[in-house]
Amino acid sequence: METLESLRTLYDQPFLSLLTRARSVHVAHHPESEIQRCELVNIKGGGCPEDCRYCAQSARHTTALAPHKLLDAPSLLRAAEEARAHGATRLCLGAAWRGLKEGDGRLEEVCRLVEAIRGEGLEICVTLGLLGPAAARRLREAGVTIYNHNLNSGPSFYGKVATTHTFADRLSTLRAAREAGLRLCSGGILGMGESVDDRLEMLQALLELDPAPESVPLNLLVPIPGTPLASQPPVNPFDLIRLISVTRVVLPRSRIRLAAGRRSLSLEAQALCFLAGANSLFIGERLLTTPNASFDADRALFETLGIEPSAPESCAPFRR
Ligand code: SF4
Repeated sequence: METLESLRTLYDQPFLSLLTRARSVHVAHHPESEIQRCELVNIKGGGCPEDCRYCAQSARHTTALAPHKLLDAPSLLRAAEEARAHGATRLCLGAAWRGLKEGDGRLEEVCRLVEAIRGEGLEICVTLGLLGPAAARRLREAGVTIYNHNLNSGPSFYGKVATTHTFADRLSTLRAAREAGLRLCSGGILGMGESVDDRLEMLQALLELDPAPESVPLNLLVPIPGTPLASQPPVNPFDLIRLISVTRVVLPRSRIRLAAGRRSLSLEAQALCFLAGANSLFIGERLLTTPNASFDADRALFETLGIEPSAPESCAPFRR
C-alpha cells in the first residue's frame, strides 16, 4: 500500500521522468489514443442545504444560478438522445441535495428517470449526494451502474471544503455504493487552497477503497462569484499533470477524467494531460454549473491528436 511519503516521492520526480513512467503504465493498460466521452445532466439544480465552499448550488451562497426542480422523464430522454448523438457513452445525472435515503420519495422519482433512459445504450452514472445501503441497492436495481461521489480533497483539508458533512460521511457513501454492486467514480478538485499533500492524501484514500474507483475525475476549481472560493487563484497546469501522472501510476486501470475547469487549459496542456494518463472527459458545452469546452474545440483537438472515442464499458465489477 502506498504511503503519503511514497506518493510524494513519485510526485516530486523530475517532470519528464514522471510523465514517461505514467505513459508507460498507461499504454500497458489502455488503448493509446482512446478517450471515453461522458455527458452530464443536472436533473435538479440549486437549493442544496450543504455548504460546500466551491459549489454554486449551495443555498448558503448567493450566486447567479437559478434553481430548478427535478427534470421530467421526456426531457431527460431528449437529453440522453442528444448525448448519444454527441458521441457520449456515459450519462451522468446530478442532483443538488444532501443525499437520498430509502423511503425518500425523491429516490423513487430518480429511479423512474433512470428506468426511462436505461434502454438508450448509455452507461448510467448518478451523483446524488450521501447514500445509504438500501438506497444504493434500489438505484442499482433501477439500472444505475456507477455512483459518483467525489472525495474532493484529503481528510486533513476536508473541514475547509464543507462543514455540513464529513470526509467519513463521503467514504461511507462510497462503501454503500460499492456494496450494492455499483462501480465507483470518485476524485477531487484542485485549487481550493489545499496543499499537494492534501491532494495526495485524497489519492491515498481512493487507493484504500477496494476495489478502487473505476473512474477518477480530476476537476480544476472554477471560482464562482458568490461562493467563498470566488477569489482563488488558478492552478498551475503542471500541478494537474503531475497529479494525473501519479494517479495513473498507482491506479493503472482506472479511467482518469478531465472534468470541471478543462476550458481553462490550453490545447497543449490538455494534450499533456492525455499523455500523462487522462483518458476520459466530459463533453457538452455545460457541466453541472460551469461552462465546458465547445463541441467544435473538442472536435478540432481530437482530430489534431488522433483521438478515438471509446465504446461503452461492461458493467462487471471493477478490479484494480
Ligand atoms: S457539491 Fe453537492 S452537496 Fe455540496 S453544496 Fe453542491 S450540490 Fe450540495
